[in-house]
Amino acid sequence: MDENGEPCVICGHHTLWVPGATEVIPPYWRFLDTWSTPARILDGSLHFACLRTAPFAEAFRDELVTLLTAGPHSVEVRLAGFDAPVAVERNVPGYDPEPVFSGTACRIFGSPNGTRFLVVEEDGPWHPLRLDQARLLAAGEPVHGEVFDTYIELERPLTTAAEDLSFPELVDALDLAAYYPDADAVQLTVFGYDTERQVLNYGTKAPLPIPAEAVEAVKDLLAP
Ligand SMILES: [Zn+2]
Repeated sequence: MDENGEPCVICGHHTLWVPGATEVIPPYWRFLDTWSTPARILDGSLHFACLRTAPFAEAFRDELVTLLTAGPHSVEVRLAGFDAPVAVERNVPGYDPEPVFSGTACRIFGSPNGTRFLVVEEDGPWHPLRLDQARLLAAGEPVHGEVFDTYIELERPLTTAAEDLSFPELVDALDLAAYYPDADAVQLTVFGYDTERQVLNYGTKAPLPIPAEAVEAVKDLLAP
């Protein structure tokens, strides 16, 4: 079972992995829920719909930006299970972005060599972009993300043949529609369904919900 079928760390319901609608915080990030006292190290899947409406969305975004842009650093926190504050060493590899845009809906960070961007929405969701994706955006084209092949163990059996399901039908069947407001735009591919174990092998493709402000900013950034 891989992590994509995990419960959402905010609402506790299953996550069907969809680009632009869900993300995963890996354990090695040492992401701190700085809004809790004492803090905990948070990892797992989450629905962006839950993050957008969470009372701690702003603190979550600030922690995300610190993690992904600060490079190797140490944070002293009161952690659950420890009597005294402890130093948490952090270094998220692969991200070394510099701020390149700050607006009302989002901020954008770019890698120093200009080949990658990271859009962080003010209410929490984040969208890494490769240069080819940024170029598509700048050309006014939608950018899609893809999850190629993953699994979810369902809590109850499907009553419709899995291969006939659309994504909106699947989230309805699983009572997860509330977490996928753009379900109609998601293409679902079913690779297989194990009726005995109720494990669905699937992939998804969906347009990334990049804020219009970010699209305009990327156009300016890539302008010759
Ligand atoms: Zn959730």
